[in-house]
Amino acid sequence: MITDNYKEVEANVIEACKKAGRDPKEVLLIAVSKTKPLSDIEELIKIGVKDFGENKPQELKAKFEDVSTPVNFHQIGHLQTNKIKYIIDKAVLIHSVDSFHLAEAIEKEAAKRDMIANVLIEVNIANEESKFGVKKEETEKLIREISVLPHVKIKGLMTIAPFVENPEDNRLYFREMKHLLLDIKSKNIDNVDMETLSMGMTNDYKIAIEEGSTMVRVGTAIFGERNYAI
Ligand SMILES: *Cc1c(COP(=O)(O)O)cnc(C)c1O
Repeated sequence: MITDNYKEVEANVIEACKKAGRDPKEVLLIAVSKTKPLSDIEELIKIGVKDFGENKPQELKAKFEDVSTPVNFHQIGHLQTNKIKYIIDKAVLIHSVDSFHLAEAIEKEAAKRDMIANVLIEVNIANEESKFGVKKEETEKLIREISVLPHVKIKGLMTIAPFVENPEDNRLYFREMKHLLLDIKSKNIDNVDMETLSMGMTNDYKIAIEEGSTMVRVGTAIFGERNYAI
């Protein structure tokens, strides 16, 4: 079931790339396994899936330690400074950096381990009250501040688009994100890569790909609905 779902999403990703004249190799499909058991992850590992997304640092840590084969875990959810220690040397990429305070705390933990932490800057592109993320207008300033931290490497931007009935409604936000990425890239800030654009979820990943996403984070379409009560 999960395997079939994954293959269907993968086919849709390829289809969306074709439609947009893009190379499917440019888009990484991250299977968002938050709240789901390790057995679900193992099922996908059997067909060669390597990238998984988690929200809770302790859950990422536990799955990282218990999984049968090493795979890439992405910290996609909001990160509190006191939880960095759980994932700093386990997450391949932290998608959710939205303040200098958080970046500084990541710097400290990374320096302790003599490693470089790869991060994305989370942008609240639709200015939603309920969402984390830096405002679009403040993104470049934040990136310039973080860029001087020697153990933190900015790889690009991430956003969580609004929850909408019609995914077409998010197209303009995805387009704005791509423009923001290119604008900041053109500034050639030292120690900053602007190659990764993490956007698109179950509801809207096809549109996100058409608008330039390089990482889509898909949970429900692969693993089914989540039950937060358990
Ligand atoms: C849960 C989550 C996803 C996946 O959401 P689905 O709608 O289930 O695909 C993607 N990104 C983030 C940051 C999430 O928290």
